[in-house]
Amino acid sequence: MSNLCQYCSKKIPINKVFCSNTCKENYFQMLAINLPKPFLKRLYFFCNKEQKQLEIKKFAQRHRWDETLVAEKAEQLIRQYFL
Ligand SMILES: [Zn+2]
Repeated sequence: MSNLCQYCSKKIPINKVFCSNTCKENYFQMLAINLPKPFLKRLYFFCNKEQKQLEIKKFAQRHRWDETLVAEKAEQLIRQYFL
C-alpha cells in the first residue's frame, strides 16, 4: 500500500502526504499564489514570450513567491480560462 505525493505524484509510504519538504512547501505556495484574471488575460493575449517571463518575474518578486511556481500556476490557469 502506498500514497502519492500530493505535489509531484511520486509513490510514498501510506503514512505520508508529501515525498519531501520541498514538495510540501511548493504545494502550499501553489495554493497561496493568487493570479488575478486580468493579469492572466494580459499575459495570454498581449505578451510575447519574453514579456510574459518578465511580467511573471515582477509579479513573483512583488509577492515574494517563487517565480517557477508562479509561471506554473499561470500556465494552469491560462489553460483553464482561455484554451
Ligand atoms: Zn513530491
